[in-house]
Amino acid sequence: MILLFSDTLTEETSLYAFLTESAAQLGAPLVRVADGRTPFEVYWHSRFLGNSRLAPCSKILKQQLARRWLEVNGDPRTATLYVGIDAGETRRIPGVRAGWAPWTVQFPLTDEPELTKEAMLAVARGLGLTPPAASQKGFAHANCGGLCVRGGQAHWRRRLVRHPDRFADYEHREQEFRAEFGDVAILKEQRDRVVRPLPLTELRRRPQPTCTIARAAPAKAGTRLHWCAGTGEPAVACTKVTAATSIPPRGTALTARSAGTPGPPRGEAAPRHAA
Ligand code: SF4
Repeated sequence: MILLFSDTLTEETSLYAFLTESAAQLGAPLVRVADGRTPFEVYWHSRFLGNSRLAPCSKILKQQLARRWLEVNGDPRTATLYVGIDAGETRRIPGVRAGWAPWTVQFPLTDEPELTKEAMLAVARGLGLTPPAASQKGFAHANCGGLCVRGGQAHWRRRLVRHPDRFADYEHREQEFRAEFGDVAILKEQRDRVVRPLPLTELRRRPQPTCTIARAAPAKAGTRLHWCAGTGEPAVACTKVTAATSIPPRGTALTARSAGTPGPPRGEAAPRHAA
């Protein structure tokens, strides 16, 4: 078995450490392929800003690189690809399979519905591994340092609240890009049936949506946690939140800060990750 990792050069330090430690524990070689550019460098070179609908970063920095490596190192007649999507992402299977033809693709993590991301992280911890920081903090995804252009407004609000420095960095990069290429943005919004760019600077300026739904309750360790789509804060007892869910990091004592205030704006979608 060979572990193949497409490096976007923007991952958290803890993710690189997790990969190295996991590979050592599995006794499998970890092969790293890298284009040498970051996602934003790809946007500049392609003169196209990645967004929730089209992400050239994923195609160029991950899919094409991995495919090139496979064409040299993986005979489709004998090699099988194992893609690590979980039981909650099975809708992606046909597209992934078609995308990797002519290789045979298998999805072993989808075999057991109860094998959730949280359960897998618990297994990893039990084996003495330290999951990436984003996973420890309860985020559903840990790719690209949590700054995925495929995420929606809820994803970026969450970044603003939880990682203001990273948000500010991308906000600045987006402004530079807009200065060169005009009115484009990572985010979009629909108003009066017209889809418009929504720059991160504008998202920051907007007041946080007020929630009339969320009700707070103390969380027990291991309780399934909803992230409020409005503010990115934990909304433990809200039953109507539609944003991505996760569990609190081990040992985290949650206080329900979303009590009676924040909540999901209408039409907000959970982040989508294809890479
Ligand atoms: S995780 Fe998001 S930002 Fe990173 S390469 Fe994939 S689509 Fe692009």
